[in-house]
Amino acid sequence: MERKQKKIDAGLLSASYPYIASIVITMDYYQKGAGPVLMRRTVNFFPGSTAYFLMECIKNDCISGGFNLEPVIATMVEGQVKSGDGKLVCHGNNASGHARVDYKIAIQYINTA
Ligand SMILES: [Zn+2]
Repeated sequence: MERKQKKIDAGLLSASYPYIASIVITMDYYQKGAGPVLMRRTVNFFPGSTAYFLMECIKNDCISGGFNLEPVIATMVEGQVKSGDGKLVCHGNNASGHARVDYKIAIQYINTA
């Protein structure tokens, strides 16, 4: 319920980032440590989407975990960067078995020229 509220509070993408046409986030989930890809997830954002970039951990019982891409996206937008990638590890505070992700982000900017 708390999470849902945060999502509502985030507002629309067009309000946070008015010059973005779309954001595509692709994430490959891995078990912490080595191992095969457990899941691939692609999330699309458009001007009417909620600007909420905290992605869930794949552990259902994960507490306060997840992958926050908000600072990554904010930095990319600042520099008008169109694509980026990186890795994040879940720091949720329940038992072991959390995930890490390799992410790719593609941002399309609205041409204001
Ligand atoms: Zn987790």
